[in-house]
Amino acid sequence: MLTSIMYHHINSDKYSNNEDVFEKHLQYISSNFNSTFPTTTLPEKAICLVFDDGYYDFYKYVFPLLKKYGVKALLAVVPKYILDDTDKEDHVRLNVKHDDLFNSYQNATFCTYKELEEMQNSGFVQIVSHSYSHVNLLDANVNVTEELKKSKEVLQKKLNINIDSFVYPFGKYNQAVLDETMKHYRYSFRIGNGINWDFSGVNHVIYRINGDNLVDAKSIFSFSNMTKFRLKTWIKRIVGNRK
Ligand SMILES: [Zn+2]
Repeated sequence: MLTSIMYHHINSDKYSNNEDVFEKHLQYISSNFNSTFPTTTLPEKAICLVFDDGYYDFYKYVFPLLKKYGVKALLAVVPKYILDDTDKEDHVRLNVKHDDLFNSYQNATFCTYKELEEMQNSGFVQIVSHSYSHVNLLDANVNVTEELKKSKEVLQKKLNINIDSFVYPFGKYNQAVLDETMKHYRYSFRIGNGINWDFSGVNHVIYRINGDNLVDAKSIFSFSNMTKFRLKTWIKRIVGNRK
């Protein structure tokens, strides 16, 4: 069985976790699960943590904790907004409201390539694609192939790694988008609060539990929650992914 969790920020105004709560949560995960990157050989009690968007607070707060507790995580990034390097100070990079982060990207509100490379090289973080410009792939005027291909190409070239996983922006996709995604990526992630058997997901899409706004270290994993998440993917497996 594979549990995957989606997160965004630490210590921010929206879609965020308090740093202390998140640290206890990570400690709980390190004692009760085996964190893994996408793979065909799943460990027992497998968990795959995925942080969306690649905000600078990931480098600042999450990366040190991953190293401290020996936990792995994916970081889904958006190349259009990534700078090579920066000399901006933390207060400039961090004190930006969630809704202004994309517009303020010149202030290095996202992790830079230099930081991404350091994290990738640590072995605790795997960089994956979250599209080229963070658009809804279901919007009529969006070039889906371009969003899928360009993000992969740029990241592979900049970081000199293989990019095999894709996280749908806003969790949005349909069968045509999924078919196109599968031409370029081996794994794709949505939202949806479900549990997967393994990285083949449900009809090729991996469900993630929402891990933002945690109230404590472990209630997200309560028996009733896990039963609900399992039931969700059992049903989706039968009726298909459409909402
Ligand atoms: Zn996103």
